[in-house]
Amino acid sequence: MTTTPLAPDVLPDRHELGRLYRNRLSRGRATLGEMFGGHVEVASEGARVTTSDGRTFLNCGGYGVFLTGARHPAVIRRVAEQLHTHPVATRIFLEPQAALAADALVSVAPPGLGRVHFAGSGAEAVETAIKLARTRGRTRLVATDGGYHGKTMGALTLTGKSLFQDPFRPLLPGTTHVPYGDAGALRTVLADIPGEGCVFVEPVQGEAGVVIPPPGYLAEVAALCEEFGALLVLDEIQTGLGRLGTWWGADADGVVPDILLVGKGLSGGVVPVSAVVARPEVFTAFDRDPYLHTSTFSGAPLAMAAARGAIEAIRGDDLVTRSRDIGARMLGELRSIVTGHFGGVVREVRGRGLMLGIEFAEPGPAGDLLIELIQNGVIANHSLNSHLVLRLTPPAVLDSTDLEFLYEAMDRACRTQAARYTPTSGGA
Ligand code: PLP
Repeated sequence: MTTTPLAPDVLPDRHELGRLYRNRLSRGRATLGEMFGGHVEVASEGARVTTSDGRTFLNCGGYGVFLTGARHPAVIRRVAEQLHTHPVATRIFLEPQAALAADALVSVAPPGLGRVHFAGSGAEAVETAIKLARTRGRTRLVATDGGYHGKTMGALTLTGKSLFQDPFRPLLPGTTHVPYGDAGALRTVLADIPGEGCVFVEPVQGEAGVVIPPPGYLAEVAALCEEFGALLVLDEIQTGLGRLGTWWGADADGVVPDILLVGKGLSGGVVPVSAVVARPEVFTAFDRDPYLHTSTFSGAPLAMAAARGAIEAIRGDDLVTRSRDIGARMLGELRSIVTGHFGGVVREVRGRGLMLGIEFAEPGPAGDLLIELIQNGVIANHSLNSHLVLRLTPPAVLDSTDLEFLYEAMDRACRTQAARYTPTSGGA
C-alpha cells in the first residue's frame, strides 16, 4: 500500500498520527500511546511538556533523562552555537568539542578515571565496556538479577529479564547473574573465576523499580572485585550526574570503579550521547589502536556541545544539591500521600535524590496510577523490569509551584485509584 506523505510542514492530527504510528512505526507503540491518553507532545521547557491541544504536563518521567529539565539555556546555548558552526566532524582532523567534553566529564568523574569514549546510547556504552573488559582478559561477565543495561546483544545479556532476552537467544556466553545486594553470592561466583571476571552493577537499580542496595554493598562489591581480580563497571547511565543527589551513586560508598558508564542526563535532554569513563590502564587497547572500536557519530561535535552544556548546567545551577534536597522533601510528601490513600496496598515508597519509586504489593495499581497521574497532568514512568513499581525521575529544576502541582495531582490520582483497590478508602 502506498500513500501520499503529508506536506512536511503540516503536523498530523491525533487520528492521522495514530494511523502513521500503526502503519509506519509499530502497532504496539501506537496502542501504548492510546493507553497513555493519546496525547501528542509538541514542545517542552524546563519541567513542562506541552501537547498539541495546548495542555501542559509536569514531566516527572522521561526515563531519567531530564535532570536539567528540557532545553536548559546552558545546553541550548552550546548546541545552537555548534549547530550553526560545525555539527559533525570529518574525523580526520582534531576537533575541540570532543576533547573539551571529555575533559569536562573527567573533571566531575571519580578520581583516577581519566579516559573517555563517547557513544550515542546507554547500550552502546555498555557494549564498549564489555569489549574493554575483553581486552583485559575479563571474559566472564557478572550482572545482577533485575538489573537493566540496555537491549543491544551484549547489553541484553546483562539485562536481567528473560522477557526481553528469550526472543534473541543465544546471548553472550559466560555470563552469570547474582541477586542484587547480596555480596555473598557475588563472592561465590567470583571465587570460581579469578582474574577473568567483569562485574556490571547499578548503584541503585532503576528499571528494576528503584531498588536501593543495603548500605556498604558497593564498597563490598569493589573489595570483592579487587580480591578476585575482576573489573568493576558501574552503570551510572540512569543514576549518574546528580540524579541520586550526589554526582555519582558510587560517591555514597566512596567507590571508584574501573569503568563508569554515563548516559541519559549527559544529553542535557537535547542531543543523545553516552560515555565510558575508564582508568587509563583499562583503556590501553583503545589508546594503542584508535580504529579498534569506532562508530561514525561517536564524539560528534553537536553531541559534545550538549554534554558540555549539561555539565555546565548541573554545576552552574547546583543541580546535585537541588536533587538531594528536593528529592528528600518529595519523598516524605509522596510517602504520606500514597500510603494515606492506599494503606497496605503500598509496599514501600522509597528513593534517593530524584529517583523515586512507589512499590505496590500487587500487580495493577502501579499501571493504573500511572495512567491516572497523566489524566491529572503529571508524566511518570513504569519500570521496565518490575510491574509493581511506579517510578518518578523529575528534573532538578522543579520549583515550589511544580511541587505543589505534583502533590495535588498525586493526591487526586491516588484518591481515585485507591477507591478501586481499597474498598473502604475514599475519604482520606
Ligand atoms: N543502563 C541503565 C542503568 C539504564 O537505565 C539504561 C536505560 O534505561 C541503559 C543502560 C540503556 O540505555 P539506552 O536505553 O540509552 O540504551
